[in-house]
Amino acid sequence: MKTIRTITVQTHDHGPVIVREPSWCLGDHPDGGNRSDITHTGRMVQLTLGGQTMLASAQLAQWPYSVRSRVPFVAVEFADGEHEYDPAELQALSAALTEFASITLPLVGDLLQLAIETEEAGHAARHA
Ligand SMILES: [Zn+2]
Repeated sequence: MKTIRTITVQTHDHGPVIVREPSWCLGDHPDGGNRSDITHTGRMVQLTLGGQTMLASAQLAQWPYSVRSRVPFVAVEFADGEHEYDPAELQALSAALTEFASITLPLVGDLLQLAIETEEAGHAARHA
């Protein structure tokens, strides 16, 4: 039997809100914001060059009380600016991009499953 984890977040606009915590969430849920600010975030995957220059990051995320969409998604952030590469650095970039894709692309399957589970949970809540 699956254990359902919950947390309580003190919100500015709705007081204490009991939130169902998805198994993939590693994020903090600070008190004091609005209920719609509550965000679930998963493990961050980073694309770096030479282990230092951060080029992009990706992580599973969800706004469970959003007025727009409550379905989990992958947030991808790219670093600003232009970077110069010599041939060796370009090869390293290519390898890093390949690794980044190999980690982030499987998240597509996770997203599809999470979208189904979110829809089923919403359906069950509407008919409870
Ligand atoms: Zn969470």
